[in-house]
Amino acid sequence: MDALLKEIAERIGPANVLVGDDVTARRVDWLTGAPCRAGAIVRPASTDELAAVMRACHAARQPVVTHGGLTGLVHGAEAAPEELVISLERMSAIEAVDPVGGTLTAQAGAPLQRVQEAAEEVGLQFPLDLGARGSCTIGGNIATNAGGIRVIRYGMMRQQVLGLEAVLADGSVVSSLNHMLKNNAGFDLKQLFIGSEGTLGIVTRAVLRLQPPAPDVQTALVACPSFSALTGLLGHMGRALGGSLAAFEAMWQSHYRLLTEESGRHPPPLATDAPFYVILESLGTDPDAHAAQFSRALEAALEEELIDDAVLAQSTQQRHGIWAIREDIEGLIQALSPLFTFDVSLPIAAMERYVEDLEAALHRAWPKGRLVTFGHLGDGNLHLSVGVGVSDPATRAAVESLVYTPLAELGGSVSAEHGIGLEKRDFLAVCRTPEEIALMHTLKQALDPQGLLNRHKVLPHGAG
Ligand code: FAD
Repeated sequence: MDALLKEIAERIGPANVLVGDDVTARRVDWLTGAPCRAGAIVRPASTDELAAVMRACHAARQPVVTHGGLTGLVHGAEAAPEELVISLERMSAIEAVDPVGGTLTAQAGAPLQRVQEAAEEVGLQFPLDLGARGSCTIGGNIATNAGGIRVIRYGMMRQQVLGLEAVLADGSVVSSLNHMLKNNAGFDLKQLFIGSEGTLGIVTRAVLRLQPPAPDVQTALVACPSFSALTGLLGHMGRALGGSLAAFEAMWQSHYRLLTEESGRHPPPLATDAPFYVILESLGTDPDAHAAQFSRALEAALEEELIDDAVLAQSTQQRHGIWAIREDIEGLIQALSPLFTFDVSLPIAAMERYVEDLEAALHRAWPKGRLVTFGHLGDGNLHLSVGVGVSDPATRAAVESLVYTPLAELGGSVSAEHGIGLEKRDFLAVCRTPEEIALMHTLKQALDPQGLLNRHKVLPHGAG
């Protein structure tokens, strides 16, 4: 690798080729803090520099792993000592904002929060939002097709991308920086790179779609008496709010009680004896009319016995207090460590039974094991946290089997929004047919025949 690093240093500057302690100081796993094991990290500053790096890697048959903000949760950024990391940290510019066309063009290393702020500066919004907003990058969001807390209103990252530029494994640049909402001229090539977790190309720039602002935010925490009331509430709020419902985040009692009363980490805004809790959030424009509409919807839900109790956030501080219960991953780690986390999707109607059956199966195997459940219910997405006291590979495999196996029959997915990475590669076949997986291999072979990009990730059998 030495000769290659020398060649790269001549192209992008020696200060941008990191080795030794500068590599191991980097944490590649957000949950465990595991250090980076790559042979080196290179930091190009532009598409041209990155293309030159990839041309050199291609000639040397050097495998690479791309790094964005390192907040991914499926070991997608892990690199072996014989691999080279390409970090997008110096490619973080917001290049242009077009308030008329409603677009923003950014380099892939731009943090999500900076993109959100740049959109706000011109009176628009970039609606993708998630807990890691300060660290995760637009390139990482695209590579993982990130979801987050506003999917029911605005869709996933795929819906926010109009155009995209990527560097391929051989160093060629595919620039598809479309700015238009409509463009049916041939294949929509950007879709190849969205959600393929850096296995088909390295995303370098993107044209993002901005939305009109919805400055009035109404937030409530409600308690639901049953799962059927919970699903009834989802339909009711959607109808009553006429499309402005932006978040429907369900917490099973296991989650709400653990992070409030049991751990003492957050004061419980509502009593902790209901089986389900939901954070409801609506985005509107006219504050008075929107607040009245939101209150009316909640009152009707109370009358129809879809909810038992509700607390409406009266200030930004109260809103943050409510969200903090849902987003307190650190609290989950503290309480359940060693912790296994899962991100699955399945039809909403099947969720109650799935969670009950999983809990029973876990208790049979580990009587003191705990399952804590929350999720973006409106998107059919559950986040499961499992603590059984040990975390050796055999235990992990046994827990994974309990979580994933039932999804095949239910028509669910082993990854709702975090991706496959290394962690779920061997479970891809639970929710994808052999023909789908074969086509994925064909695409990989066509774009990266040497298997240089994020090798061993996503696709089973270690191919490419
Ligand atoms: P990284 O972690 O650096 O990389 C992730 C993967 O993408 C890796 O495989 C990497 O090789 C690849 N990659 C990165 N950049 C590029 C690029 N430019 N071109 C090609 N490949 C690239 N996800 C959700 O969907 N919804 C959530 O609500 C959500 N909440 C989260 C909350 C927290 C606290 C945390 C820590 C994570 C959360 N995530 C969530 C996980 C989510 O995948 C990431 O936060 C984000 O999308 C990854 O961006 P990143 O820049 O950190 O990517």
